Amino acid sequence: MSNIVAIVGRPNVGKSTLFNRLLERREAIVDSTAGVTRDRHYGKSDWNGVDFTVIDTGGYDVGTDDIFEEEIRKQVQLAVDEATSIIFMMNVEEGLTDTDHEIYRLLRRSNKPIYIVVNKVDSAKEELPATEFYQLGIEKYYTLSSATGSGTGDLLDDIVKDF
Ligand code: GDP
Ligand code: MG
Repeated sequence: MSNIVAIVGRPNVGKSTLFNRLLERREAIVDSTAGVTRDRHYGKSDWNGVDFTVIDTGGYDVGTDDIFEEEIRKQVQLAVDEATSIIFMMNVEEGLTDTDHEIYRLLRRSNKPIYIVVNKVDSAKEELPATEFYQLGIEKYYTLSSATGSGTGDLLDDIVKDF
């Protein structure tokens, strides 16, 4: 079975930036697959010779955090149904929000591996504020700068290890 990694999170955390970065390694094949909602982008990627599909979720990316709970629930459920692994992305710039708590609550119902990512950690000075995310009750998160690519290697190493 093929490996499918979905990137989930509220608007503006940096999902599409990471998605595009992951596809850089190859020709960017972004299309909407027939039969599934048009708001999801699929692409092929690989890490250390391991192929996988990436899903960029976020039909609710309207540039604000004013998301309806029902829409979040729908997106998260689709990701959980389709993916074999899930990247749950938040960002240090805006910090931990109620919506993040809600998304994580929904994700935890699945038995799939969840990789918790704190994005926009562009330099060492954001590492300390990122510790706020332990309030989710998690033991580990990955700090990432999708803008520069820093941290993506450690994340991908662990994701493909669990395939
Ligand atoms: P999405 O709504 O979750 O798909 O977020 P986008 O990928 O569209 O990014 C939202 C904004 O955050 C854009 O202006 C990005 O350039 C910016 N952004 C994404 N990743 C990073 C990052 O690692 N660091 C910083 N400083 N900005 C980022
Ligand atoms: Mg997006």
